[in-house]
Amino acid sequence: MSTQLLVPFTEGDRSMSALLGGKGANLAEMTRLGLPVPPGFTITTEACREFMAHGSPPPELTAMVTDALRDLEWRSGQMFGSASDPLLVSVRSGARFSMPGMMETVLNVGLTDVTLPGLVARGGARFAWDCYRRLVQMFGHTVLGIDASRFEDLLSKARAATGASDDAGLDAATLADLVGEFRSVLVSHTGQDLPQDPREQLDRAVTAVFASWDSPRARVYRAHERIPDDLGTAVNVVAMVYGNTGPRSGSGVCFTRNPATGKAEAYGDYLANAQGEDVVNGSRTTLPLSALAGLEPAAHAELLDHLRTLERHYRDLCDVEFTIEDSRLWVLQTRVGKRSPAAAFRIAADLSEEGLISLDEALGRVDGHQLESLLHPRFDAAAGHEPLASGLPASPGASVGEAVFDPATAVVRAAEGRPCVLVRTETSPDDVDGIIAAVAVVTARGGLTSHAAVVARGLGRTCVTSVSGLDVDESQRLAVLADGHRIEEGDLLSVDGTSGHVYAGRLRVTPSPVYAAMAGREPTSPAADDESTARAVRLLLAHADRVRHLRVRANAETPAEAREARALGAEGIGLCRTEHMLLGARRELVERVVVDDRRTEALAEIERLAMEDFTELLTAMDGLPVVVRLLDPPLHEFLPDLVELSVRVAAEGARGLVEPALAARLAAVRRWHEQNPMLGLRGVRLLTVIPELVDAHVRALVSAAAVLRQQGLDPRPEIMVPLVADVAELALARRRVEVTLEQVATTRHTVDCPVGVMIELPRAALTAGALAGEAEFFSFGTNDLTQTTWGISRDDAEAGFLTSYREAGLLADDPFTRLDETGVGELILIAVDRGRVARPDLGLGACGEHAGDPESIAFLAGAGLDYVSCSPPRVPVARLEAGRAAVRPSEAGDTR
Ligand code: PEP
Ligand code: MG
Repeated sequence: MSTQLLVPFTEGDRSMSALLGGKGANLAEMTRLGLPVPPGFTITTEACREFMAHGSPPPELTAMVTDALRDLEWRSGQMFGSASDPLLVSVRSGARFSMPGMMETVLNVGLTDVTLPGLVARGGARFAWDCYRRLVQMFGHTVLGIDASRFEDLLSKARAATGASDDAGLDAATLADLVGEFRSVLVSHTGQDLPQDPREQLDRAVTAVFASWDSPRARVYRAHERIPDDLGTAVNVVAMVYGNTGPRSGSGVCFTRNPATGKAEAYGDYLANAQGEDVVNGSRTTLPLSALAGLEPAAHAELLDHLRTLERHYRDLCDVEFTIEDSRLWVLQTRVGKRSPAAAFRIAADLSEEGLISLDEALGRVDGHQLESLLHPRFDAAAGHEPLASGLPASPGASVGEAVFDPATAVVRAAEGRPCVLVRTETSPDDVDGIIAAVAVVTARGGLTSHAAVVARGLGRTCVTSVSGLDVDESQRLAVLADGHRIEEGDLLSVDGTSGHVYAGRLRVTPSPVYAAMAGREPTSPAADDESTARAVRLLLAHADRVRHLRVRANAETPAEAREARALGAEGIGLCRTEHMLLGARRELVERVVVDDRRTEALAEIERLAMEDFTELLTAMDGLPVVVRLLDPPLHEFLPDLVELSVRVAAEGARGLVEPALAARLAAVRRWHEQNPMLGLRGVRLLTVIPELVDAHVRALVSAAAVLRQQGLDPRPEIMVPLVADVAELALARRRVEVTLEQVATTRHTVDCPVGVMIELPRAALTAGALAGEAEFFSFGTNDLTQTTWGISRDDAEAGFLTSYREAGLLADDPFTRLDETGVGELILIAVDRGRVARPDLGLGACGEHAGDPESIAFLAGAGLDYVSCSPPRVPVARLEAGRAAVRPSEAGDTR
């Protein structure tokens, strides 16, 4: 049992990530693979959980660490605390799920006034003092909680005083002075100097890493990424290797493939004469990995070899941290790397074509959210705007927002619904809540593997790093560019994370090239990377289409929408909202039907127009089902506003003449006015008030289909009745439809037109067995079903209390966006069961917003539905998710 508290690298493997954390498990795995990993051991997440429970590490850990250190000494040939050849260690956090930069690391632990001369002997005075100042700095910040800027300020003063352009330019004497100054900071802030007992340094560093699991920024990140709070982090204690001994040494971060585009070539950043943190914190400008080939050809070749080994072994994109000490390569970390949505598709498709993974697996490696972001529009490149500034394209996307210069303001702006762009010199883990809140991040420093780049990519935020000439003054809420242009808080910026350009103002956007490729249109800018992404998307969508059981239809009313949906792969229309065909000038016709005596004329005109519309719609979807829903919205939406009309009548009354027609209108509006229209006269209930209008639509639809059939086409109309609560309502609607069908059939061709019902009230779900007797199909209207199950108005939800509910932790997700599986989902499952028992061949679909939401689709597929129907742009997303659901059945399907 107690062995679970500490595991040497030689005894673990990658399957143990729950216990060893991702970093520890992978270090052990690389050790097993024979990669050059420095010796080390992992203090487990179990020890961290004990720390969280009791406020101190488990007592047995002390002796275990002593033994493990002895083993490390034996393997490295160095002694912890030795004055002549000291073993130093790094203390690195590593949770089960990657939390980039969220928690702490302390390097060079074991360095004291006594052991310093041994380090001087190893790599010279400059190197030794550089290690010492890093230790004091990290210990001061991480263990003693001193603000990092205290040390940064002293460092930049030292750079200014010596004319050094970066920290690597500081000489031994300056670094020795800095160590003295840093130690004074420790004493003045905490009353304590750096402990001179190496073991005390180590124990306190381990405890600090445990404690960092609970830091506010780690909590924010976990909440966003849905990582449970009780997992705890592991701590890796690793023999130090040094990238800062001189020009033949250095540190780097690299990926087995390009994490932004997915291109199959090793990719990364390298810094000579540096320790690892320098690469990621963006404090110095890095070299591309390819430059290492010239500097250290043997180490470079060896590294590429290891990258190939790792990618074949993990069968995925890996990222790697490495150090070169006096030309000798060490691998310090690997994990399956984060990637942009475009890279996710390309890598999954390429790996399957390379035979490393199956197509089913490839499908599991991408998701609908990623596809959705690829389908988003881009800035209009053809518009010829001059960028304000340019940097590295760190995370793709096209986002517009107000400039803000600190994370707190980003959070406030986002809460106000104002998109913002976080502009920073560089980001640190303290900025994470700001990055989550912002639509884009722009930094002056940092490469493609910098903190900002990694976090933004993981979160799907647009990001441009290393913007040359950008000088950010956070305290003044201002950034100045090389040409003197000032960016002030609130200025609009358009950030293009695909090209790396930042523009002033709001740029026009054009459809994404991937979207254009999906829809069969010519892309506006067929760049090679875009073509590769589109190809990968097509490959994986084709596989999704092969394996999925769930059909995908679109919600569409206009022929243009229908054609677009079909081009994007829709297999019919699952919801045509007839009321959307009565907007604009046509609204007045409905008003005349409700209010006027001359309703016959208005009805005839509505029928004529509807027949035109349906003809086009059925033609666009020839051979595929088109589900037309009978009129649904509250009647008042077609009538003038009660207050406005009352004011007009009162004004005319004051002048002594109220036109009788106006008075009649007011009377009608008053009559139909409701306090709660969403729970009032709408849906099937309208049949009792304006049945002729419903008849007109049915006649128009069936007539249009009959004409098209005569012309040799294959129209497939279906009719759907909304907001039914009771089977009697459905039976009434059905009879009415059948009478009209018979009338049309006597005058034209017979048209088969199945009648279905929307399940969008809890009562409908519960009485599904009875409803199935009167309906050939069900379509779940999950928007209204959510509204009526929760008793929350769908129109006010976001602006109202749902946001505060989420903030208070009462609700993880907006139930109008992500299907509430527990409540609404249960009603769906009940209705499916009862409906299918009553009518085994019952058709089943869903057409609320959830039908296009990636997570909800998985549930709906598992519930046994035949199709989902979503807005046309989301059709590819739904196809992909339906495919994913088929290769990884959802829980709803599994548990039933
Ligand atoms: C629904 O309620 O889910 C639905 C599709 O209908 P509407 O959004 O038009 O009310
Ligand atoms: Mg509805």
